[in-house]
Amino acid sequence: MIIILATHNKDKLRELLPLLEPLGIDIKLLDEFPQIGEIAETGRTLRENALIKARTVHRLTGLPALADDTGLEVACLRGQPGVRTGRYAGENATYAENVTKLLRELKTVPESERSARFLTVIAYVDDDRELLENGVVEGRIINERKGVGGFGYDPVFYIPQLYKTFAEMTSAEKSNISHRGRAFRKMKKLLEELSAAQTENSPQLNSRS
Ligand code: IMP
Repeated sequence: MIIILATHNKDKLRELLPLLEPLGIDIKLLDEFPQIGEIAETGRTLRENALIKARTVHRLTGLPALADDTGLEVACLRGQPGVRTGRYAGENATYAENVTKLLRELKTVPESERSARFLTVIAYVDDDRELLENGVVEGRIINERKGVGGFGYDPVFYIPQLYKTFAEMTSAEKSNISHRGRAFRKMKKLLEELSAAQTENSPQLNSRS
């Protein structure tokens, strides 16, 4: 089984590859397909964007594709930045600019009202099916950056139960509880079932049975 991971984001790849490697699937990266440039995220929801990315890559390569789209939903901002998480401070905003804008918006908000969650939606698309899964983690936005690991909003996303931001965790700790880890572990189950079904139906095995 071959799957293309439909992302150019190196930080996501660093988290996704260890989750997928145990599956024994042949994982291809977008770098191997230079004809596929940036894919515009024009959807109104994370689900739509994950599907747009996976469908586009599948259409252009003919291979099964897996894409994730992630949003940060801050309760006191009525769920913003949500689908605009990567572009919160502007179209080509850096991680640092997005975090600075978020901290500015929340400057006067007390700790008890700073709850937030990360939501990841994953889409898998091949010739015969489209599969979707999601993962959520609840936390809080603190008022200054802590830690140097992770990426994006990790330095300000605090998990009260662990007394740490995502940026203060090891990759394994983050993956264990993160939105992306949870969504991918669910998707992994579906892919394992799919891979087992394909093996069962493969001509090689049928001729032996
Ligand atoms: P995307 O649309 O899924 O590529 O993600 C949008 C933005 O969300 C990224 O540019 C990051 O700023 C942020 N983001 C996604 N995943 C994470 C994460 O695991 N931790 C912190 N920020 C993240």
